[in-house]
Amino acid sequence: MLIVMSKKAKPEEIDAVVKAIHGKGYTARPIPGGERTAIGVLHNEGAVDASYFLGLAGVKDVIPVTHPYKLVSREFQPEDTIIQVGDVKIGNAYLTIIAGPCAVESEEQCLIIARKVKQAGAQLFRGGAFKPRTSPYSFQGLGEKGLQILARVREDTGMPVVTEVLDKETFGLVEEYADVAQIGARNMQNFSLLRRAGQSRKPVLLKRGMAATIEEWLMAAEYIMEGGNTQVILCERGIRTFSHHSRNTLDLSAVAAVKLESHLPIIVDPSHAAGRRDQVIPLSRAAVAVGAHGLMVEVHHAPEEALSDGAQSLYPEGFEMLCNQIKPIFDIF
Ligand code: PEP
Ligand code: MN
Repeated sequence: MLIVMSKKAKPEEIDAVVKAIHGKGYTARPIPGGERTAIGVLHNEGAVDASYFLGLAGVKDVIPVTHPYKLVSREFQPEDTIIQVGDVKIGNAYLTIIAGPCAVESEEQCLIIARKVKQAGAQLFRGGAFKPRTSPYSFQGLGEKGLQILARVREDTGMPVVTEVLDKETFGLVEEYADVAQIGARNMQNFSLLRRAGQSRKPVLLKRGMAATIEEWLMAAEYIMEGGNTQVILCERGIRTFSHHSRNTLDLSAVAAVKLESHLPIIVDPSHAAGRRDQVIPLSRAAVAVGAHGLMVEVHHAPEEALSDGAQSLYPEGFEMLCNQIKPIFDIF
C-alpha cells in the first residue's frame, strides 16, 4: 500500500504517519518524488486498514498496490529512476553504452579494447574478472588480478567499470573495485546474493535469468531494493526458447513491458542474446528503437583468440558502426 501525503503536509505530519505505520508492525519506506511525498507500506501480512491511515493529518490518499513487487513498481514511484555512475547517467532520457570484452584477459587486452570503445562512444567499460562458465574446465577469470586491471582501465580512460559478482564471498572485493556490480543471468534468483547486493551502495546491474518471467525478474530487483539499495539497472539478455538460429531469443517486448511496470532503467545485452556477431548490430538497433535506456555489448580486438565468447564479440570497427547506427534511431525519441 502507498500513502500519499498532501503537498502541504508538514514534516511532523509525515513523521506521525511513519510512526503510525511502525506502530502497526509494518515498515514505512518514504519514496522520493518531485510532485508528492509518498510513504510505502511494506511487510504487511494481509490487507492494511486504509481508513485508519486516511484519518491521519496530512494524508491525501491511500492507494492499494496491486503488484507483488512494490518498490520497483511505478505505483510506488511514477518518475523514472536515473542512476549516476561517475559522470554517466542511466535511465529516463539517456542512452548509455557499456562495452568491453566478455572476460578480462590481460591489462594489454583491456587497454586496447577500452581505448577503442571509448573513442567509438562507449561510456562504461565491461569485463568479467569472475566468470560463470558452463564447464569447470573453461577459463574462470583472473579474479582479483582482473579487478585490478579494471581499476587500471578506469584510471587510464576515465570510464567507470562494470563487472560481475558471482557470490556473496567475493562481493566485498568486487565492490572495492567496481563502479557497477553485475549479477548475471545464472544468479538472478540467488537470493542470498540479492540480499547482499541490497546492502551495497554500488549500483547493481541485474540481468534477466534465462528462463525468468518478467515478474520473477522484477521480484529479484525487489530483493535488492528491499535491502535498501535503490540503484538497480535491469538488463534483458535473451531467454531460452526452441529457436536455434541464435543462442537465446532477445525478448524485446520485455523492454516495453518493464518500462510500463517499473521506474528502473532497462538496458539490453544483444551479445549474449545473439551468441553470434552478425546479429549484434541489428539487435542493437532494434533495442534502441523499442526504447531501451542503453546497451551492453561485447567487443574484442582479436575475437578469434578470446578466452570466452569470441564468436559474439564485435571487432572495434563493428562497434563503431553500431554506435553510429543507433544514434539517429535514438534521436527519433
Ligand atoms: C556476462 O555478461 O558476462 C554474462 C555472463 O552474461 P549472462 O549472465 O547474461 O549470461
Ligand atoms: Mn560473455
